[in-house]
Amino acid sequence: MRQYQLFINNEFVDATDKRTFNGVNPYNQETLATYARAGADDVNKAVAAARDAFDNGPWPRMAREERSALIKAISDKINENKKLLTELEVLDSGSTLRKAGEDIYLSARNLAGFAKLGLTDLDGELEGVSKAGFSKNLLVREPIGVVAAIIPWNFPLKMAIWKIGPALAAGNTVVLKPSEETSLSIMELAKLIQQIGLPKGVLNIVTGFGPEAGAALVRHPLIDKIAFTGSTATGQQIMQAAAGNLKKLTLECGGKSANIVLDDADLEMALDGAMYGIFYHAGQCCEAGTRLLLPNSIADEFVQRLVEKTKKLKLGDPMLPTTDVGPVVSQKQLDRILGYIEKGKAEGGKLLSGGSKPNSPECARGFFVEPTLFDHVDNASTIAQEEIFGPVLSIIRYTADEDAVRAANNSIYGLAGGVWSKDPERAMRVAKRLRAGTVWINEWHLLNERAPFGGYKQSGIGREFGIDGLKEYTEAKHIHIDEVGIRAKKTWYDTVVPKE
Ligand code: NAD
Repeated sequence: MRQYQLFINNEFVDATDKRTFNGVNPYNQETLATYARAGADDVNKAVAAARDAFDNGPWPRMAREERSALIKAISDKINENKKLLTELEVLDSGSTLRKAGEDIYLSARNLAGFAKLGLTDLDGELEGVSKAGFSKNLLVREPIGVVAAIIPWNFPLKMAIWKIGPALAAGNTVVLKPSEETSLSIMELAKLIQQIGLPKGVLNIVTGFGPEAGAALVRHPLIDKIAFTGSTATGQQIMQAAAGNLKKLTLECGGKSANIVLDDADLEMALDGAMYGIFYHAGQCCEAGTRLLLPNSIADEFVQRLVEKTKKLKLGDPMLPTTDVGPVVSQKQLDRILGYIEKGKAEGGKLLSGGSKPNSPECARGFFVEPTLFDHVDNASTIAQEEIFGPVLSIIRYTADEDAVRAANNSIYGLAGGVWSKDPERAMRVAKRLRAGTVWINEWHLLNERAPFGGYKQSGIGREFGIDGLKEYTEAKHIHIDEVGIRAKKTWYDTVVPKE
């Protein structure tokens, strides 16, 4: 069994009180690894290391090119170790081999992208503000300071990279807390980072639980910014904790994305899109297409074909390349999802497929839920409004495009949405009306590290990716250079009130 310590100041250390916790394989419930369980004292040490690295170390003052090269070196190490990291993520999170392989590939690619993005010169003279012979006005982007990065379990390494990539590229130092459910690939990443030799304290990793290590981190007075991905409920608690010293915040939270099929869609493509949108990673994606909006004119045929395809999905050992759907991450998630399925039935949704734990021998020891379809769901019902985070699709039927848009927007969330149509102008009209941070037309799940990603409404605050994402890790400083000089002006009054 693997054993991991905390990673502070480029060294591996036990928790102060020597406490540990176990990581479990969701496919067979075997213990995979033991981790140090960080408490408030350990968080203090990690934050002190990051603070010292920021205030006194070279990182924030290093040339962009030098920082970028070190970040790229981490990306290269991920690539070199992709087989190991992929297998560990399968064991730790229940991701299928295909999904984990893609995640590790994308972690390396996204990180290389952030290294490149970090070379962007965001500084310069402010257009239209300076006046020749009077003043020069410069904008300088500076790192914020010490960033607390807190991430969930559904894309372990990738979520870590999405935080540490732009944070480090902008010159911040970081304390990262992985999810207690999935710390394995991230602790292997720590070993790779130790080999590269980032300056001491630039990146620190504390394993542990949300209410302990996480809570200690978000209320810590020496943290300048929190970058969080997780549920909206936790995001709300974090906002309150951040109020103490008015930390900067970016929150990437929950979703209930609407997948709208228009009546002129390519049905085969839309069917695959609907399946991919909801059943990829057993529905444990923040931007999953959890509500399928079907026009009455094609709904019966669409639903019939969807049921046939769904019943063919293969559940089982996520390590096998033939497996389509693996287990969900934990017993807690399993119980939560089954609870929502019962609510769906009680509130009048018509259960067409799935609805319980599978009874095949290969799924017997894992946290599996059958891919589940509910038809004739009322958009106001619990399974259409609350985030289930499992393989459960709510099908909502509509008449006019207008009704589909209204239903899609009738949600506290606004992370993503999708439109399936052969008419680009019609699809664009619908896409523009959706109140969501990402909208796909004839696609799902595809993100790009150069395009902003984030949520409207209670799906979050701020954006990841692209220049917008990088700026979230910077402070904007305005430098006014007066070319006349205050003493050249007769009075204070003259400098602020222009003469008629
Ligand atoms: P979660 O909110 O339970 O936990 C997320 C992280 O926060 C974990 O590391 C956890 O330990 C920590 N945490 C929990 N309580 C805390 C507290 N009081 N203070 C500080 N940290 C605390 O979420 P989860 O169950 O791990 O992940 C699923 C959720 O994440 C879903 O709601 C999903 O939509 C969301 N998610 C969002 C995105 C996005 O980009 N919008 C991406 C992935 C997942």
